[in-house]
Amino acid sequence: MKKMSPESLMMSYGFKPELSEGAIKPPIFQTSTFVFRSAEHGKAFFEQAYGLREKDEGEELGLIYSRLNNPDLEILENRLTLWDQAEEAAVFESGMGAITTALLQFLAPGDLLVHSNPIYGGTDHFVKHMLPKFGINILGFDPDQSKEEIEEMIEASGHSSRLKMIYVETPANPTNDLIDLEMCRAVADKFAGEEKPLVAVDNTYMGPLWQHPLKQGADLVLYSATKYIGGHSDVIAGACLGSKELITEVKGMRTFLGNMAGPWTGWLLLRSLETLKVRMEQQARNAAHVYEAIKDHPKVKTIHYLGAIKPGTRQHEIFEKQYKSAGAMLSIILEGGEKESFKFLNNLKLIKLAVSLGSTESLAQHPASMTHAGVDPEDRKKYGISDSLVRLSVGVENAEDLVWDIKQALEA
Ligand SMILES: *Cc1c(COP(=O)(O)O)cnc(C)c1O
Repeated sequence: MKKMSPESLMMSYGFKPELSEGAIKPPIFQTSTFVFRSAEHGKAFFEQAYGLREKDEGEELGLIYSRLNNPDLEILENRLTLWDQAEEAAVFESGMGAITTALLQFLAPGDLLVHSNPIYGGTDHFVKHMLPKFGINILGFDPDQSKEEIEEMIEASGHSSRLKMIYVETPANPTNDLIDLEMCRAVADKFAGEEKPLVAVDNTYMGPLWQHPLKQGADLVLYSATKYIGGHSDVIAGACLGSKELITEVKGMRTFLGNMAGPWTGWLLLRSLETLKVRMEQQARNAAHVYEAIKDHPKVKTIHYLGAIKPGTRQHEIFEKQYKSAGAMLSIILEGGEKESFKFLNNLKLIKLAVSLGSTESLAQHPASMTHAGVDPEDRKKYGISDSLVRLSVGVENAEDLVWDIKQALEA
């Protein structure tokens, strides 16, 4: 048979209707535990789950208990692997659940975690304030630093022999700065001892359609599935993707933290995945239209948008090799400060004033006082998260309606 594209498989992959009364859609398996066919089956499942023996050819992990696995989660995990061409996926009840579980699984006291700046507020807090409590060393780098500068910083930290992971968010939120993932891979490999340090990428902003970090050499891809994957502002969820070996380890930690997604969350995401591509493509088209329509407006100073990166720059080089689209996020720098930004936000009529992104409805917010309020004021200044920055996540509405709304709020 022809090899089908992910969007063609999103309605069927990993689900066998004959096991569910012929239902075309997977039922919600709202069950905490599963009945074993025999005591021998139960024993065999546990041996597998605890890795007490090798799996037989073609043997799948039997269903035991919904903290370990559940059909809705398994189907979802199978489908999620398709976009990133990952061997395996693990789903969580939130993006933070996915990120913290992966960090806790792979880091140990004395290890060095190198991370890009700026990173999502929740991740920033966990990395900078919680991991050090467990004896983990933290070192941040900036988007404009070269490979050599980052390597020198790692050497100078005194912990280079314990480099365990490079954690990257690209594009950076909310500034849309790009980081070269192949460069991160090369830095990680340079410090490889017996094991290679891992490269982990938060792909929430551009995944799973427009950036595929595993192809650029990353080991782990992380998602807040609350954003594009869920896409309807009605569910909180997360995912971690990578090789079978690494995801088995992540799932081990998930079993003990107990932060796997529930069956209802899994089912909602299965529904969302069916329209993922059409939603994201429409959002990107709308964002390009909005950008063109407002970029020369006198109240707009500049717009950070992947479609506006100047050719000939290093940022453009990274864009060309790493991204398939300019995405649907606009960071608009207005003339004025907080007062003017708030006036603009308060006057929007169609676009909703709310944090989050990647949803069917357009969302606008003020990072300096909202999503990034917890970031150190010095860092906010350094990374350009100013009072005049408004972040816009473009939805699937009519593009002309969006332009009308933004223009009337700018006039106000
Ligand atoms: C929202 C978000 C997260 C956190 O995800 P939750 O689903 O809210 O836990 C992490 N990273 C990025 C880039 C995000 O936008």
